[in-house]
Order: sequence, then structure tokens, then C-alpha cells
Amino acid sequence: MAWFSKKPRLIAPADLDVDEKQRSRMQGLWAKCEACDEIVYRQEVEKILNVCPACGYHMAWPARTRLAAVLDPGSFQELDSNLAPQDAIGFVDSKRYRDRLKSTAKAVGETDAFISGVGRIEGHQVSIGCFVFEFMGGSMGSVVGEKVTRVFERAHDQNCSAVIFSASGGARMQEGIFSLMQLAKTSAALARFRSVRKPYISIMLHPTTGGVAASFAWLGDVILAEPKALIGFAGPRVIEQTIRQKLPEGFQRSEFLLDHGMIDAIVQRKDLRQKLGQLLGLMG
Ligand SMILES: [Zn+2]
Repeated sequence: MAWFSKKPRLIAPADLDVDEKQRSRMQGLWAKCEACDEIVYRQEVEKILNVCPACGYHMAWPARTRLAAVLDPGSFQELDSNLAPQDAIGFVDSKRYRDRLKSTAKAVGETDAFISGVGRIEGHQVSIGCFVFEFMGGSMGSVVGEKVTRVFERAHDQNCSAVIFSASGGARMQEGIFSLMQLAKTSAALARFRSVRKPYISIMLHPTTGGVAASFAWLGDVILAEPKALIGFAGPRVIEQTIRQKLPEGFQRSEFLLDHGMIDAIVQRKDLRQKLGQLLGLMG
């Protein structure tokens, strides 16, 4: 699990002769594009929604910033923020799950890997949620599953559309069977929501994998994705080892999935709010 919680390393330009203290300050100022290795000024990139100015790569984008950018200004009302995870099975790996939860909450500033609530997109009422990938790789435990369920239940009760941004490594293994049960629970809540005949728009971010891809993320009436997002159930390495074949170029990336009819559209981050408004207007 360790690689899920790793934050992108920020690299200061190597040719600058700076001492350690200054270097750590520099690391906060500069970010390195994972795709093209371009060193970019963090403030400038934030202005253009964390998209690399050199190659257009969509870098990680904080969940709260994303929600604020997509929703009508001031319309977001966060709900269920009182839900906090429990260590139901007393799980211990390299450290105790309860300690991991505490330290992750402190480092990330969220109680679990999902933010949910209600708001409006271009005037359309939505029940909305977004994964926090920084929190244990956006893994889905009982709290994430419950919050996703409530997104659909609220959309059902308020007769409005549902929108979910997914970015997840899958089920949270530290919660064992309680984590796996969330696949069925969220899918059942979505099935009940269908009776109000409002759209559920699923937006898959980089990466959307495992139990999240295998449940509600791929059950959207409309499925959108960000460019070059890794989307799939098992990772490409696991599949290659299992089938003993080399996978085709671009396998499990948004562009490949669009070509094969698995998603409906790839939307640039800057166009997403307008695209969602358009879809909700047509279908909501
Ligand atoms: Zn780049």
C-alpha cells in the first residue's frame, strides 16, 4: 500500500546552488511534470488548474479545489463530514490501521478519502462527491462507501442528478470484508436512485482502479474521464503476469478506453464545468 500514499515529489532545479533549507522552500515553489519532466512554477500551474503548460498532462488536483471550480460559487454544502473510520478488525500491517488513520488525517487534513455534499452546476442542483486520493490512495472503506451511498440516496430524495469524481486504488484492504461489501452497497444505492430517472455522471480521474472502477464508477449513465487517466480493475503489470502477453500501447488509459467504447468522452479539465452543465441541462 505504501506507494498509494506517496505524494508527488517536488524537485527544485538542480543547477541552483542552494543550501538544504532554501532547497526545501524551493521544492514548495516548483513542481515537476510526471509526463514530460518539465519543471514548472507551482503558482503558475495552479492558475491553469494543475495542467502542465508544456505537454497538457493533467496533474493531481486537490478535491476541494476541484469541487469549488466545478460547482457554482458558494453553492457547495458539505455533508456527512462527521463520519469517521473505525478499525473494525484490528488490522496491523507495518503499523496499526488506527495509527495510520490518525497520521494520514493529520497529514492530509481530511477524516477519510471522500468529500460529499450538495451544490449546483450552472444552476442545476446536484448531489456530488469527490475522492481524496491523498488519503490512503483514495481507498474505499466503510466511510467512503457510506458517503458514496448517501450521494445516491440524497439524489433520490431530492430528485436531482448525481455526480461523482473517482480517483482510487480500490478497496481498503485494512478493513477486510467491510471494504469489499461497499461494492455491493454503493451499487445497490445507485440502483434505487435509478427510479427517479435523473442522470448519474461518473468522472474518472487518474487513477480509477480496483473496487471503485468495478462498482459505481463504471455504472454512470455518462462516464467521462480526464486525459491519460489510468482506468481499470487490475493494474497492467498484474494482467501481463497473468496472461503472459505484452499489453498494447496505451492500455487502460482514457484514450484507449474511449477507442474501445468503455467511456463516453475525455474532457479537458478547463472544459469540465461547462460540459457537466450541458449534460445536466440535456438529461436532468
Ligand atoms: Zn508536462
